[in-house]
Amino acid sequence: MADWRELYQDLILDHGRRPRNFRQPAGANRQAEGFNPLCGDRIQLYLKLENGVISDLGFQGSGCAISTASASLLTERLKGKTAEEAEAVFQKFHQLILRPEAAAPAEPDLGKLNALAGVAQFPTRIKCATLAWHTLHAALDAADAPVKVSTE
Ligand code: ZN
Repeated sequence: MADWRELYQDLILDHGRRPRNFRQPAGANRQAEGFNPLCGDRIQLYLKLENGVISDLGFQGSGCAISTASASLLTERLKGKTAEEAEAVFQKFHQLILRPEAAAPAEPDLGKLNALAGVAQFPTRIKCATLAWHTLHAALDAADAPVKVSTE
């Protein structure tokens, strides 16, 4: 097993056990709930969107290590980004995760999110890894009312 894979596995375990930004940020003005019935992962994602910039974000909920780590890494990666930048990261992440074979780390824009590349080898876990991202999408699109999304 290549060193970077071991490193990535540690990163996922760490974020799965000790998720970052596991909270509802003060002043959050966008919110969405995501549910992955295949695995039972459930998250609430909160954004504070100011002048098109995600000035703060956080999540709560319960799920497997992959869904939790993915949400945690997402919140770290997107803080301070514009909604458009977040969308671009989402597209790149989606490509990474749907790639048939796990390549070596190759997407500098994704940073630590590259750790989830190995999920591409486990189709049943792809929805765990993408749940937070679909929820993000819904939260960015939401006006005032909280929305719910499901991976099914
Ligand atoms: Zn899961």
